[in-house]
Amino acid sequence: MSDNRSAAIEYARSQHDRYLSDLIELVRIPSVSTDPAHKADMRVAAEHVVTRLKAIGMENIQIIETAGHPAIYADYLHSPGKPTVIIYGHYDVQPAEPLDLWETPPYEPTLRDGKLFGRGASDMKGQVMASIHAVEAVMKHGGLPVNVKWLIEGEEEIGSPNLLKVIEDNQELFKADFALNPDGGILGEELPAIIYGLRGLAYFEVHVYGPDHDLHSGIYGGAVLNPAAELTRLIAGMHDANGHITLPGFYEDVRPLDADERAELARLPTDNDYYLKHTGAPMLWGEKGYSPVEHTGGRPTLEVNGLLSGFTGEGAKTVLPSKAMAKISCRLVPDQDPEAIHQSLLKYMEQNVRSAVTWDVKVVSAGNPASITSRNSEGVKALANAMETVWGVRPLFRREGGSVPVVYQMNKILGIDSVLTGFGLPDDNLHAPNEKLTLGPWYKGIEALIHFFHNL
Ligand SMILES: [Zn+2]
Repeated sequence: MSDNRSAAIEYARSQHDRYLSDLIELVRIPSVSTDPAHKADMRVAAEHVVTRLKAIGMENIQIIETAGHPAIYADYLHSPGKPTVIIYGHYDVQPAEPLDLWETPPYEPTLRDGKLFGRGASDMKGQVMASIHAVEAVMKHGGLPVNVKWLIEGEEEIGSPNLLKVIEDNQELFKADFALNPDGGILGEELPAIIYGLRGLAYFEVHVYGPDHDLHSGIYGGAVLNPAAELTRLIAGMHDANGHITLPGFYEDVRPLDADERAELARLPTDNDYYLKHTGAPMLWGEKGYSPVEHTGGRPTLEVNGLLSGFTGEGAKTVLPSKAMAKISCRLVPDQDPEAIHQSLLKYMEQNVRSAVTWDVKVVSAGNPASITSRNSEGVKALANAMETVWGVRPLFRREGGSVPVVYQMNKILGIDSVLTGFGLPDDNLHAPNEKLTLGPWYKGIEALIHFFHNL
């Protein structure tokens, strides 16, 4: 280990109490982005982060105003010819309600059994502070061997409505080689993990129209096609008996999982029992030939999210509904194009809807393809080696089933990939009462980030 590297690690180990009190100060600020009553607190939290960035020596610090809550930029660019990492974070939190389920008040951070309880402790004020602490430790001992930039927004918990514009308007400012996004977590205290893939999303409404008004099923039933029956028949046909999706061309662009990657995913501790336990379903069901980890991370899906038609109140109403609607969404994998999936759904409808009804497909959203970072990229390798140094085990590589808009936006506008990690645990109660951060892995995470910067 180089002298600078070990000195930075030693330093970080001597600072645990300060690291904790810095985090407690930030968690005290109720920066709830969705609640207009907390608008002033949002500003206080943003300024608090700015103060921290200034204190560790970051430069060109800017508060970027948006139509909503401000975003923060800062940089330290003194390693010409070396890579530039942009560190993403958010300083907003989810609302704390229901308050009566908290054992201690959400904005009075409390330490119990080596865990800090408070809203945002894990998601993601703890992760933002871990990054700041790591950069500081590296800077204090020999200087940063890479260039760093920061993008810390205040609207992640409400879907980042203004982030796209912030990135678009400041492309030159945010230019980097790749992004580090610590808004994820590890899988256990001794199970470090890196997320290298996220699924995309395409969301539709499928409408089927029959008679021009609701009919009496006794007088007219039998003479017209029931739109609810037709829509559900269409939905039933969207999967075959093996769980494959039948929309024409749906799988055309799907990037297959190779043997190497499947072996890597098979190391994850989330086996069949895990999914059974966490879903409460009587048994698992999915596309034949794949494991649940692959179903949820590496394969595309088509789900019915909601159905609307006819009479659903108590008792009986003998109605023949005039129309039916289904909300249908697809989780997409690399290299599927959401617009191509829209076309594929239209084609399925054209081929299958009977002419006794009319139909329409509305696009709710189709601008979010999947994203993936090569497991062999410099960023992933640097982080994987860093985690292995600290934890003594090779990290697990995960593909997450959900979508993180900022990852896709950075990829689309800045052309960069994101490495996702974080040092929270699966049971941190994110978005729920009694959110907590376990300090052991958090301190380890700070050390891992110190190694990460040196490895780069
Ligand atoms: Zn978050």
